[in-house]
Formats: sequence, C-alpha cells, structure tokens
Amino acid sequence: MSNVFPSSHPLVAHKVTLLRDIATEPKKFRGLIREISALLIYEATADLLVQSKNVQTPLDIAQGAELVEKFGLVPILRAGLGMVEGIWELMPSAEVWHIGLYRDERTLKPVEYYNKLPIEPTVSVCIILDPMLATGGSAVATVDILKRWGVKKIKYVGIIGAPEGIKLMQQNHPEVPIHLAAIDNHLNEHGYIIPGLGDAGDRQFGTG
Ligand code: URA
Repeated sequence: MSNVFPSSHPLVAHKVTLLRDIATEPKKFRGLIREISALLIYEATADLLVQSKNVQTPLDIAQGAELVEKFGLVPILRAGLGMVEGIWELMPSAEVWHIGLYRDERTLKPVEYYNKLPIEPTVSVCIILDPMLATGGSAVATVDILKRWGVKKIKYVGIIGAPEGIKLMQQNHPEVPIHLAAIDNHLNEHGYIIPGLGDAGDRQFGTG
C-alpha cells in the first residue's frame, strides 16, 4: 500500500459521510464531490515542483515560488466530470483532457470511446479523476493511454477505493500514487463498492 494515500483529514471524513448518505440529493452530492476533490488535490499536489521567484510587495521584495510543471486534469467520463470544477478553482491553468471508457459486456475489458489527446503531450503531469476506484480496469486503461501519450508523471485522485481496484493498479502501475478519501471493504457481484455510495454518475446527474 506504499503508494496509496487515504486521507486522514477530518473535513474529508465528514464530507464523505454526507456523500454516502442515501438521503443526499444530486445538488448537494455535486457540491460535496466538488469540495472533497479540492481537499484531496491539496494533499495530492504536495510534491509539485516549484522554482523560486521574487515578488515586489508594496514594501520590499519577497522571496516566493511558482509552479514549474504543466498540468492536465483527466476526468474519466462520466463520473469524473464532477471532480474537475473544485480542482480547477485551485489550478486554473490546468488543461482538461477527457477520456471516455465503457466496459465491454462480453470481455469485461474497458473500451475507449472518447479520446481527443493530440499526438504530442502538452502537459508534464496528469491527474486522473474518477470518484470510484472499483475494479480498477478504467484506471489502469487510462494510465496506459497517458503513458502512450508520453506523460511521465501521473497521479490518480478518487474518492472511494476498493481493495480490488487498488491491487490492479499496483500490479500494473505501481509508481502511480493513488489519493483517496476512503478505502472500503470489497466489490459486490455487480462491481459496486461496498458500502460505497452507489453509482457516482447517477447520483451526480440525477439519473439513478
Ligand atoms: N462505479 C460507481 O459509480 N460506483 C461503484 O460502487 C462502483 C463503480
């Protein structure tokens, strides 16, 4: 579990409890996803590179810092969409590259249906966003896509992870750090995280 970082922040724990609640309606659910994502990105970006930069204050010159890397946020459609906004508030210059995957019912493997990445990478750090790390199939496939694109530094930020998905990621991409609000017990026979929060896409978009 060396590369897995479940948050221990009380604010995150409080908000995830509200998020799980069956009584939380879509508007409130979307707000919580936004807030939790911002809190998680604060933890996930603690190792970003900065270079020193002096700044003129009204009184003197202060030694400051500026980020040196170019970031891409990579929400996996559709549940990852709701995570973008809260993070974008904090990282407004990040590019957003959407990846669409569905699960082939026969092979159970993820199939790419949306990917508009240009040939050459335009960012040096990619942060994959998907609230539920369930089987891990989509997460692994997305890291594969980003590695093929040429991105060297990749992180995964989710909200709830299952041991099965974490294991698959660690087997395939052990160097990718996984930041989560909580790690749950297991997947049920339909691939849902237990206890989880249900279908993160349906609960955001009111389609459940
Ligand atoms: N996707 C979801 O939205 N919920 C789960 O529990 C698992 C995958």
